[in-house]
Amino acid sequence: MNLADLGWSPFFEKHFLALEETALLPARVIEELKGFYRVRTVDAEFLAEIAGKIQHDAKQRDDFPAVGDWVAIVPREEEGRARIERVLPRKSKLARKAAGRALVEQIVATNLDTVFVVSSLNRELNAQRIERYLALIVESGARPVIVLNKADLCADPADLAASVERVARDAPIHLISARDKSGLAAILQYLVRGETAAFVGSSGVGKSTIINALLAGSREKEQRVQAVREGDDRGMHTTSSRQMFFLSTGGIVIDTPGMRELQLWDSEEGVAEVFDDLLTLAAECKFRDCNHRGEPDCAIEAAILAGTLQRERLESYRKLQAELRFQERKADVRVAREDKEKWKKVHKEMRNKGRP
Ligand code: GDP
Ligand code: ZN
Repeated sequence: MNLADLGWSPFFEKHFLALEETALLPARVIEELKGFYRVRTVDAEFLAEIAGKIQHDAKQRDDFPAVGDWVAIVPREEEGRARIERVLPRKSKLARKAAGRALVEQIVATNLDTVFVVSSLNRELNAQRIERYLALIVESGARPVIVLNKADLCADPADLAASVERVARDAPIHLISARDKSGLAAILQYLVRGETAAFVGSSGVGKSTIINALLAGSREKEQRVQAVREGDDRGMHTTSSRQMFFLSTGGIVIDTPGMRELQLWDSEEGVAEVFDDLLTLAAECKFRDCNHRGEPDCAIEAAILAGTLQRERLESYRKLQAELRFQERKADVRVAREDKEKWKKVHKEMRNKGRP
C-alpha cells in the first residue's frame, strides 16, 4: 500500500511539504477513540495521542483530528504509538449539529470524495429526508450520489424514483439491489483508487449489505461480516478494520458509527430496524401509502390472515411511530427554545459589554 492508496493527493502533499519538518510522517486517521486516534501510515498502524500544542491552540472541535483526516505524526515504532503534531487542511468535512445542544458541531468524517445517500425503494422512501442529506453533503464539499436500494422489492420503481428526481438536483441516482447484486457496477465506478466514500441513510436501507457486496472478494470481507453481526451498538469498542475499508478496486470506504447517526432521530432508525420485516411486507401492499386498514391487496393484512404476521406487531409498530412523531414535535420545540435562550444570553452579554 502506498500513500495514494490511502487517499493521499497533491493537495495534501503541498500542505505537508509546507510544514518543512523532516521528522514528521503523513498518516491517515482511521478511527477516533476516547482520547486517542488510530492512524495508518503506508507501513503501519499506530495508536496516537495529540500533541499538547494542538490541545492548547484548539479553539473549537474543528481544530481536532477526525476520521478521514491526514495528520503529521512522530511515530514511536517500538511501542506502536505516535504523536499527532499537525492536522492537515481538509478537502471536505461532513459535519452535523451535535444532538441535543444546538450550535455544537460534530464532525462525522473528513476528506470524503463521494457520499452515497441510500434509501430503500419502498413506502418509507422519503424525498425530504434525502433532501436533508443532500444539503449536508453538498455543504461538506463531497459529491453526493443517490442510491435507491431493494429494487427487487419494487415492481414499478419509476414513480418512487420520480419523487427523488425532484429533489436530486445534479446528484446522480442509481437503482440497485444489493441482495441480487444488480447495479453495483454503477456504485463501483465512484470507488476508484485512492478515492474515499461513505454511505449514509436510515437503518435497514441496506448500507451494510451494499458494503459487504462491494467487499466480496477483497481481503477484509471476514472482518466486515463480523462487524455486521455485532451491529452498530454505540457502546461497542470497534477496531480500525471496521472503520475504513480498502476495496480491491482501490476505493476506500469509511463507515463510522457517527455516519449512521446522521439522521436526526436515532430512535426512528431503531424502529425501522426492529420492524424491518413489517416494512418489507408493507412494500408489497398495492398502495404505496397503504394504512393496512382494509385497503385492497394489502400485504400486511394478508400476512396477518395467513398467520405469518401477528396483529400485535402491527399495533406496536403504530404505537412507536406515534411516539416518534410526538417526540419529533417536542424536540423541534426544544431546539427552537434552546436557540432562543442562547441568543437571548448573547444579546444580554453584548448589551452589558456595551455599557461604560
Ligand atoms: P443497514 O442498516 O442500512 O446497514 O441495512 P442492512 O444492510 O442491515 O439491511 C437491512 C435488511 O435489508 C437486511 O435484512 C437485508 O438483507 C435487507 N436488504 C438489503 N439490501 C436488500 C436488497 O437489495 N433487497 C432486499 N429485498 N433486501 C435487502
Ligand atoms: Zn397494507
